Amino acid sequence: MLLTITTTHRPATDLGYLLEKHPAKCQSFPLSFGQAHVFYSVTREESCTAALLLDLDPIGLVRGRRGGDGPTLGAYVNDRPYVASSFLSVAIAQVFGSALNGRSRERAELATTPIPLKASLSALRCRGGEGLLRRLFEPLGYEVAATRSSLDERFTEWGPSPYFAVEVSGVRCLSELLSHLYVRIPVLDDDKHYFVGDDEVEKLLAKGEKWLPGHPQRDLIVSRFLKKQRRLMRDALERLMGDDDVDPEEKDEERRREEEAVEQKISLNEQRLGAVVSAVKAATARSVIDLGCGEGNLLRELIRDKELTHIVGVDVSPRSLEWAHRNLHLDDLPDRQRERIKLIQGSLSYRDERFSGFDVACVVEVIEHLDPARLPAFERVVFEFARPRTVVVTTPNCEYNVRFENLPAGRFRHRDHRFEWTREEFQGWASRVAGRFGYAVRIVPIGPEDPAVGSPTQMGVFTR
Ligand code: SAH
Repeated sequence: MLLTITTTHRPATDLGYLLEKHPAKCQSFPLSFGQAHVFYSVTREESCTAALLLDLDPIGLVRGRRGGDGPTLGAYVNDRPYVASSFLSVAIAQVFGSALNGRSRERAELATTPIPLKASLSALRCRGGEGLLRRLFEPLGYEVAATRSSLDERFTEWGPSPYFAVEVSGVRCLSELLSHLYVRIPVLDDDKHYFVGDDEVEKLLAKGEKWLPGHPQRDLIVSRFLKKQRRLMRDALERLMGDDDVDPEEKDEERRREEEAVEQKISLNEQRLGAVVSAVKAATARSVIDLGCGEGNLLRELIRDKELTHIVGVDVSPRSLEWAHRNLHLDDLPDRQRERIKLIQGSLSYRDERFSGFDVACVVEVIEHLDPARLPAFERVVFEFARPRTVVVTTPNCEYNVRFENLPAGRFRHRDHRFEWTREEFQGWASRVAGRFGYAVRIVPIGPEDPAVGSPTQMGVFTR
């Protein structure tokens, strides 16, 4: 993997003093995971480019590892030698340590002076796409150029790869540029090759204390840099922001937005709501209850349907209900409208009289938030006690997750999901529930259908 740093500050060869690496030499540094080489490809007075080439030793990496069933082929054959990752961040810290900390023996003043700089990364995996790359660098005044590489130049029909050749340029102190790269490379790669513990918080605070508190992507940076370990994230955010600004429910909001970002490309949310509203209309309902209504997205659509005279939203989270209240502008509705809709706090795992007497119940993207051990209770609460004529349930089809390019393999779409089902698993559950409680069920795919993995969302319409 290759990182180059170019300056056009004059004399540009002062870059050698800033990096404390002589422009006329090629030097090598042994690291625990391979060799780092530093050399210069351009050394003119008007422009100077230093290169950090990291030669990873993939076999050495696997040999040192213990546990599991031994290394798989994927442990030997992977993108790690070529793609900028946390290995490169470690190499920056070890090989350009003094520059990263803003020190230079011979050019102390220049080390703390903004100069024109450009960093190029030959290959960077951007989980979250070019958009996220820009959102990470541009708020700090960098210009970003990104070129996506194809998967294989000989087979263009295979489409694009997840890798970008990236250039970021700006007028910054060298230490700032290096620390911005140090934090962002693993954030974009969304992985770390080493165990992430408490000292990772120290590294993040040291490199990010100046720019991180006000950065619009602060929470995402903290979350990914700390490998989503909630205790560490909380610690880091508290120390960055002071206790007052860290609200765990705000984190939920953040996570919901992340899930939306994953699914954004096809505006899945809209298609889902459309499908649920159609199912409600098809049931010629007068009354409907939205179980796990969240912030009221579905309720907003349902209110428009004049046929519905009685609409209730239920959620376990008072905070979500507050948002729903606000989003639906309940305080501004004329009395007659206001009487049609009600929000109540309640849990889907406890029998509740207030859930009874509705034509339709909607349970949209909720079951996967329930602990599997609570599912049987939920089934009885809805299908045995509330017992509406129609129940509409939607849940992700996890087979489709491989099609979301910014969702790492094996990860759920939302970090609060307790499970995500395949089409077969959902079908199996739905048939069992229908059979047990005397309903018929029809499964409907929502969103674009892929021949191999199906559609992103699956909906079960239960009728009795
Ligand atoms: N249906 C909404 C929200 C989905 S997110 C939409 O599609 O936008 C899941 C929601 O289920 C959250 O608002 C969460 O608070 C709620 N929830 C999770 N467990 C619950 C339970 N046991 N009882 C009631 N609501 C629950």
